[in-house]
Amino acid sequence: MTAGDRQTGRNDDVYMAITEQRDARTYFSAELLAWYRLQKRDLPWRLNRDPYRVWVSEIMLQQTRVDTVIPYYLAFMEQFPTVKALAEAPEEEVLKRWEGLGYYSRARNLQAGAKMVMESYGGVIPDDHEAVSGLKGVGPYTSGAVMSIAFNRPYPAVDGNVMRVLSRYFCLEDDIAKPSTRVKIEKLAATLIPDGAAGDFNQGLMELGALICAPKSPGCLTCPVMEQCEGRLAGKETVLPIKTKAKAPRDEYRAAAIVEREGRVLVRRRPDTGLLAQMWELPHVLLPAGAETMFGGDAVKEQPGMAEALIRGTEEAAALFIRPMDWLLDTEHVFSHIHWRMRVFLAELGTSTLSVAGVGMAAESPASYSVADASGPDAEFVGKDGLTYRWIGKSDMEKLPFPNVFIRILGQYWT
Ligand code: SF4
Repeated sequence: MTAGDRQTGRNDDVYMAITEQRDARTYFSAELLAWYRLQKRDLPWRLNRDPYRVWVSEIMLQQTRVDTVIPYYLAFMEQFPTVKALAEAPEEEVLKRWEGLGYYSRARNLQAGAKMVMESYGGVIPDDHEAVSGLKGVGPYTSGAVMSIAFNRPYPAVDGNVMRVLSRYFCLEDDIAKPSTRVKIEKLAATLIPDGAAGDFNQGLMELGALICAPKSPGCLTCPVMEQCEGRLAGKETVLPIKTKAKAPRDEYRAAAIVEREGRVLVRRRPDTGLLAQMWELPHVLLPAGAETMFGGDAVKEQPGMAEALIRGTEEAAALFIRPMDWLLDTEHVFSHIHWRMRVFLAELGTSTLSVAGVGMAAESPASYSVADASGPDAEFVGKDGLTYRWIGKSDMEKLPFPNVFIRILGQYWT
């Protein structure tokens, strides 16, 4: 079957036909393997085939570029060199070491998986696909990567890069955003693995996707499989893979406060579950519908409505009376499904009942709030919202894990 025969790629017969094309598959696998063994990059997780090292690297590399991962990986392996070290570490230390990499549930799941390895497998990652697949945070891609790279077992490891390469090489026109396409490509990839070379072959596929068959501009002229690449022969190398766009992240407008007292800033720890779980942050509130107009280019920065939302939100949640005084900066942070647009104010903490009309940013109408005892600068206390609050100095930033957006804000504040 040629590229011309594959009009839509929607037919399962396409995949069936490929698995029957022994020559094309053999060519692809042999050329790719030979190329990888000559050209592979010298990356720190390729030092040996220790399954723990492979596991950590594969988790870090999800959604993150190799260049970004390398320094994090080196520091992480130095601090947590074994499954045992990771399993026994305080979670806050693990999050701190992960700080800046994003997608923090990866770090929490990795540690939970390490605990499972300690409890169920005596601290040794088993050479067993089912057992590895059952570890927390390990999906089909990661289990395939660990089993093939560490144990040389013939399991496919199919991520977005691999789907792109195989869609192009075999000229497949199924939507790779669909789970059913991934399943089909996993089956196809399993048939391509050469005997006794699963680890190198899977890494070769990943390497080809990273270095040559790049998303926007595939370097076909230097590609080891260009001769028989059906996507290229059909002139579709830049059209493939077909991928429907994910929904754009929804906007959330937020107001945050830097409350300083005696050189220390008030922060709180996020809840145990959910987005950025257990990381530290500045107090902030979600602004009501319509807040986007307050962020418009011409809108004034210090708006009474926003000040009042911040005052009310923090008072109701934590029984703290936060008085925004001056606008400091606007910033934003994009998660996979949410886009935070955040306005940050310098603020004071009241210690007695105050009128909103009396604060630096006057509200539209006066209102009174009861104020909780704000405690001393060293105190850690639990707000009405159940969150832990504390006062920190600049040096505490080295110990507590913060999401990037707050590192940026506090970095600017403290410079
Ligand atoms: S020839 Fe081009 S499109 Fe085909 S696999 Fe190689 S880089 Fe990708």
